[in-house]
Amino acid sequence: MTEKPVLVWFRQDLRLADNPALTAAVSTGAPVIPVFVLDDSGAGDWRPGGASRWWLHQSLAALDESLRGKGSRLVLRSGAAGQAVSDLLRETGADTVFWNRLYEPLAIRRDSDIKSDLRDAGVTVKSFTGNLAFEPWTIRTGNDGPYRVFSPFMKACMRQGAPDQPLAVPETLAAPNDWPASDELDGWKLEPTTPDWAGGLREHWTPGETGAHRRFEAFLDDSLDSYAKVRDRMAGETTSRLSPHLHFGEISVRSIWRTLDHREAEGARSVGKFRAELIWREFAHHLLFHYPTLPEKNWRESFDAFPWVDDQEALKAWQSGKTGYPLVDAGMRELWVSGYMHNRVRMVVASFLIKHLAIHWRHGADWFWDTLVDADLANNAASWQWVAGSGADAAPFFRIFNPVRQGQQFDADGAYVRRWLPVLQHLPDKYLHAPWTAPDAVLQDAGVKLGRDYPNPIVDHAAARARALAGYDRVKSL
Ligand SMILES: Cc1cc2nc3c(=O)[nH]c(=O)nc-3n(C[C@H](O)[C@H](O)[C@H](O)COP(=O)(O)OP(=O)(O)OC[C@H]3O[C@@H](n4cnc5c(N)ncnc54)[C@H](O)[C@@H]3O)c2cc1C
Repeated sequence: MTEKPVLVWFRQDLRLADNPALTAAVSTGAPVIPVFVLDDSGAGDWRPGGASRWWLHQSLAALDESLRGKGSRLVLRSGAAGQAVSDLLRETGADTVFWNRLYEPLAIRRDSDIKSDLRDAGVTVKSFTGNLAFEPWTIRTGNDGPYRVFSPFMKACMRQGAPDQPLAVPETLAAPNDWPASDELDGWKLEPTTPDWAGGLREHWTPGETGAHRRFEAFLDDSLDSYAKVRDRMAGETTSRLSPHLHFGEISVRSIWRTLDHREAEGARSVGKFRAELIWREFAHHLLFHYPTLPEKNWRESFDAFPWVDDQEALKAWQSGKTGYPLVDAGMRELWVSGYMHNRVRMVVASFLIKHLAIHWRHGADWFWDTLVDADLANNAASWQWVAGSGADAAPFFRIFNPVRQGQQFDADGAYVRRWLPVLQHLPDKYLHAPWTAPDAVLQDAGVKLGRDYPNPIVDHAAARARALAGYDRVKSL
């Protein structure tokens, strides 16, 4: 082939199906050069964390394999993305670049700079909608502003109607005469080695497009119908676990949406509830786009007056699952081992950090950023601020989750706590969520000595609650 190739710059869209940038490149008829750039330059605090890097390695390997099945391959480059893309254009003689848009503030700034530099240099650049069903600037209030409240935002999304039909996987990808040089994926050292803490991640997840579709199919077959009823139950697979696949774009939200439409027409239950969660994802991105300081600053400035406590020891106890509250500790262990935590448990552990320990939500968000396989700037920031009460349409601050009652309600048979805290497995249900209330003989029978095998609570619920509410008085008075 003598035609100039087209570069497709993959980012958080690591898939072949319903990938508008890829499909547009293929439809030019020119050779296609798929590229991924590992660009930590300028990422600041938001360089992907350890669990995300592990996932990224697997997902890139999977994408390369799928591309090879189509007669193509993934070219890997590292460094500042603008430089890497310009180098590739020069080396390959390409004069066209396509990508799907991202919505994080740093990515927007970087991508707009790259776009204008390349256009100035005579390169054709096109960006597409690939990661959201509704781009943040397309959903506007009656006053032509951004939404701050979820329900009307959701209604506005629904008024837009279903997103376009998803695009098929291209049949083949025309290869260039010569492939440009590529970094070795292993050389990027995205996976941990000493120590290799990723065993639990490998056991729980199959990153990549095939894994994403299998996960979705399994959810449709086994859990969708009961989702609205049981999604708050902490044990078992009560939710889709699609979050990391969605974050890395291994499955597109519009293909999920369209499949849900079909299932609904066939009589599936819970579709509305599940779709609402997908719209929470859209809402988080809408908020981040319109309020770019969301990951760093209280959305409600009055929360700047909250008397946060700097307690490294308590933070460490929370991170390592040693607070003495079984539900909190089980959640933090689930996170550490599997890179994931059930949504309701996320709410409980976040509330515990912020309200029981009076530690700033940023510390919690940072820990999640490093340990979650689904770490996502928009969803993480919006959710932490939601729990803190400092965010848009957030839970009121005075709603302080009681970890004992949450456990008794949503893990009534203790299956979740026993799975992640086997040390408590022989404790009767009655005491499982509050071991300090168990008589000595019961603890002894269960083989648990508090303070030796499992910690005593690091704070008293009632006292912590009173302190949190007193702190909130300062916020309220502003
Ligand atoms: C403190 C805290 C931090 C969080 N951090 C993240 C994060 O970094 N990344 C992340 O993807 N989610 C985050 N969430 C939201 C939510 O907990 C996860 O998306 C969900 O648990 C993922 O499991 P699932 O895929 O089985 O969800 P399902 O219940 O099956 O929902 C389907 C999809 O909807 C989206 N979704 C669901 N709930 C929310 C929500 N509250 N906000 C935004 N999108 C949502 C996700 O993409 C999810 O995959 C956080 C929640 C809390 C309380």
